[in-house]
Amino acid sequence: MDVPFVNLALQFKALEKELTQEFCRVGYSGNYVMGPEVVEFEAALAKLCNVKQAISVGNGTDALELILQAYGIGDGDEVITAPNSFIASAGAIAAVGATPIFVDVGEDYNIDVSLISNAITEKTKAIIPVHLTGNPADMDAINVIAAQYGLKVIEDAAQAIGAEYKGRPVGCLSDAAAFSLHPLKNFHLLGDAGFISTNDENLAAHIRKIKNHGLINRDESATWGRNSRLDSMQAAFGLIKLKHLSNWTARFQEIADIYLNELDGIVNLPVSPKVNSAVYHNFVIRVEDRTKLMSYLGDNNIGCKIHYPIPLHLMGCSKELGYKKGSFPVTEKQAGSILSLPIYPELANEQVLYVSQKIREFYSE
Ligand SMILES: *Cc1c(COP(=O)(O)O)cnc(C)c1O
Repeated sequence: MDVPFVNLALQFKALEKELTQEFCRVGYSGNYVMGPEVVEFEAALAKLCNVKQAISVGNGTDALELILQAYGIGDGDEVITAPNSFIASAGAIAAVGATPIFVDVGEDYNIDVSLISNAITEKTKAIIPVHLTGNPADMDAINVIAAQYGLKVIEDAAQAIGAEYKGRPVGCLSDAAAFSLHPLKNFHLLGDAGFISTNDENLAAHIRKIKNHGLINRDESATWGRNSRLDSMQAAFGLIKLKHLSNWTARFQEIADIYLNELDGIVNLPVSPKVNSAVYHNFVIRVEDRTKLMSYLGDNNIGCKIHYPIPLHLMGCSKELGYKKGSFPVTEKQAGSILSLPIYPELANEQVLYVSQKIREFYSE
């Protein structure tokens, strides 16, 4: 048996007919940028996130940057986030000229709320909790702290589309949220893409301007902006794919349940409060002998990956922030033992059972 870590072609194959039809329809329309598909896709995303406004953008990193920029966060400001995320969470903060301030995470890989207050200074402007692996961060507690200090809260929901926190979808739990629809996310388009969700109409109107050169009409810009638009073609694909999102999410959760059953007592398993609904963008276990396990699985044609092996505060780009080894002990310890197993809706139960069986085999030897 063969279980690759990802296989994007399987989803494409299943939807090939519909996607190809849309490719031709949009192709013949000649309306490749800001077409009606974009408006329709944004409306569907707003509904999904239970917010007033969804704004499509070029990618998830731009989504974070545009929110920060629109809130006037930049030079001299500090923004709190977690050090165990993908680089973009902190990179977006640095890109607008602000300073990323890291706060260690808990057992669930999300920001440790009890440590946030200590990291707040008079320069702090916002908190960016990351719903890592599609498991919602504790938003109620984070919002309480933010309100106390007058800070903005921006969800990094890049890995969490479809997840729910206490019965509410991620994306409506803060001032604004950033999503990525990159091919390696649990819900993805056929290239780079992202969007912002918010109930803040002023913020939305401002972002709609600055994502399109600051243009207020065809010929004039009132503010400096940039180009971060979603293609009509990608929006058309997105509308096809959105019809399947709830089924795919359920399938991610089914596969996770199989792993949770099969690997109970063998490895450290992900935990998510019962009141939430995690989407398992990644299924992350923690193990001893990770290198040996990875090569054992590799020998058995099973792909796995590490998300992420180098904590953000220990990367070269963070040098000037002044952190060192030992600054965030939980993140650092987890980075040495985490392992992401294959998980995507197209996996067959036999494949998931095969992966589980090989892991059990490894630890019984
Ligand atoms: C992927 C990702 C991003 C960035 O999204 P892109 O679309 O790749 O720019 C930001 N934050 C997290 C947590 C991510 O996983």
